[in-house]
Amino acid sequence: MSQRITLIAGNWKMNNLAADAVTLCKDIGSGLGSDTKAEVLVCPTFTALIPARDAIAGGAIKLGAQDCHASEKGAHTGDVSAAMLKDAGCTYVILGHSERRTDHGESDGDVAAKVAAVWGASLKAIVCVGETETERNNGSTTDVVSRQIEHSIPAGATADNLVVAYEPVWAIGTGRTPSVSDASAVHATIRDNLRRRFGDSVADGTRILYGGSMKPENAADFLADTEIDGGLIGGASLKAPDFLAIINAA
Ligand code: PEP
Repeated sequence: MSQRITLIAGNWKMNNLAADAVTLCKDIGSGLGSDTKAEVLVCPTFTALIPARDAIAGGAIKLGAQDCHASEKGAHTGDVSAAMLKDAGCTYVILGHSERRTDHGESDGDVAAKVAAVWGASLKAIVCVGETETERNNGSTTDVVSRQIEHSIPAGATADNLVVAYEPVWAIGTGRTPSVSDASAVHATIRDNLRRRFGDSVADGTRILYGGSMKPENAADFLADTEIDGGLIGGASLKAPDFLAIINAA
């Protein structure tokens, strides 16, 4: 199995004005030890990207966005292209988060088009998948996640341009989580799907993050599992001490 570098990514969602983003970036940056092994990423809202970029300049923290449009440019009022995100200093873009699938009706096909746009701009895509509570209860987690992997990731995936985040929808922001072994089993299913579609080196090299109420108290257990290559963290990424504790658990 190839070596996968743990990725700890903060999804700030629609939180933090520019000044708050700068403070949080600086607090995380100054708390990072020189021996931090994990790759660390923060994903502020669009308006805080450039202040955050300037606050992390010269340090180890990377910058990502939470969405982008599938087109390169043009008549799309209110939208932001992948090239604009690159211009603002981003390396990663989160795509297909369940809040976007729910709030904006994004389909797997919409997500795939955005992934292609992100790759077109030489950025890395973090593609989110995960089942709802109803889907989990009726035993369709494997089918749902496999379908999302099949249709949300276009041809052209590499271990470098793709990260997958397994985020059970019922665990996001609720304080509830699956057991580590249940999450690990879904990660293994995701990796099997990647193997079928893209071959061994993509499957073995692609990082699969767990997301959904990861916090300092449970991070070490999730991150110790060999199938779990990092975390996508919402609430706990908004407080530097909590985010740093998760980074240190990696
Ligand atoms: C998320 O929305 O990506 C997430 C994982 O949120 P939380 O950590 O707050 O559950």
